[in-house]
Amino acid sequence: MRLGVMGGTFDPIHIGHLVTAEEALYQFELDEVLFVPSARPPHKTDSRQSDARHRLRMVELSIEADPSLSVSAMELEREGLSYTIDTLRQIHAERGKGTDLYFITGADAILEILTWKDPEELLAESRFIAATRPGYPLEKLAEALPDSNSAGEAALRSVSAMEIPALAISSTDIRRRASEGRPFRYLVCDAVWSYIRENGLYR
Ligand code: ATP
Ligand code: MG
Repeated sequence: MRLGVMGGTFDPIHIGHLVTAEEALYQFELDEVLFVPSARPPHKTDSRQSDARHRLRMVELSIEADPSLSVSAMELEREGLSYTIDTLRQIHAERGKGTDLYFITGADAILEILTWKDPEELLAESRFIAATRPGYPLEKLAEALPDSNSAGEAALRSVSAMEIPALAISSTDIRRRASEGRPFRYLVCDAVWSYIRENGLYR
């Protein structure tokens, strides 16, 4: 079993996330991609942040018709802050050690994950796929990891870059567009577009 895992706040989930998941399924011959919405860190006091319930529901609506995509609320149900390492260990515990994990991120997020925490533990649990996104070339990762750090070098070797069709789409931009009344309808799935309007999100 080859399982892709994609963490994020998904506020809201957009087609950039879905394109990335689909491309990883294809390029890395994955059986499934699991979306794991994260709890909001308490220091993020953005007043426009959405309830976990909304973020989870928008992921569910987006993946409903695709049997190779699934969602887990494990980080939302866990107490306190969630760390990627805990999530990967929990998935391994639930699915069995025979499941190979591929943690999928944008190239911007891989920088945060592998340079802020001890990469060795993460590397023992999962491989990493970094989708290159406009403005976040993967070379930045090499720059961020010191040459003298062997764990850093190992981390770099275990990250596979994956090119995706250039998508300058972000949730931040969608939230801003929604709040300013600018268009964003086709940056998200139909059902998410309807959900945002019905629930008055990002106004
Ligand atoms: P925000 O602007 O609020 O940070 P976001 O669009 O970056 O939102 P997140 O929920 O933070 O979305 O991201 C979840 C994961 O998806 C991260 O690994 C991020 O790097 C990746 N990602 C986000 N947007 C894209 C995109 N357009 N193409 C590829 N990957 C993306
Ligand atoms: Mg982000």
